[in-house]
Amino acid sequence: MARFDEFKQANEQYAAQFDGGDLPIPPARKVAVVTCMDARLHPEEFLGLELGDAHVIRNAGGRVSDDAIRSLVISERFLGTEEIVIVHHTECGMLTFRNEDLIAKIKEDLGVDASGQDFLPFSDLEEGVREDVEKVRASELIPDDITVSGAVYDVKTGELREVTRG
Ligand code: ZN
Repeated sequence: MARFDEFKQANEQYAAQFDGGDLPIPPARKVAVVTCMDARLHPEEFLGLELGDAHVIRNAGGRVSDDAIRSLVISERFLGTEEIVIVHHTECGMLTFRNEDLIAKIKEDLGVDASGQDFLPFSDLEEGVREDVEKVRASELIPDDITVSGAVYDVKTGELREVTRG
């Protein structure tokens, strides 16, 4: 069975007991989280978020990419969020390669030249968090009154460690 079929099956049970249909669009806790797509991260659970509480923007590494900025701007301007928390994590796959490695693999696997593309890997966990916090703070699309904090989540212990607070 394709995963999609499993999803449809699981959803039947979910929808049967669903009672969150009356939530407003703006996140109740006025916060946006940027974090990694890693399958071992369950941000809603490790941050104590309920349905309707927060925007959770996920990508490879939890990086503040142009597209993450796009989502943050919409989150703030239209949906009232006032705080951003960036969460990277231990054992992140983004620590394990450099741009040139992935560019070479794309060439080998797909025959496509991806040179010049930045896949946003990083070599130091805490430095990566600080870099992304700075990137948010430096963006003219994100005003200075938005609070920006950064943390590292430990996939072995489930603990969140502060790196920088806004
Ligand atoms: Zn990761």
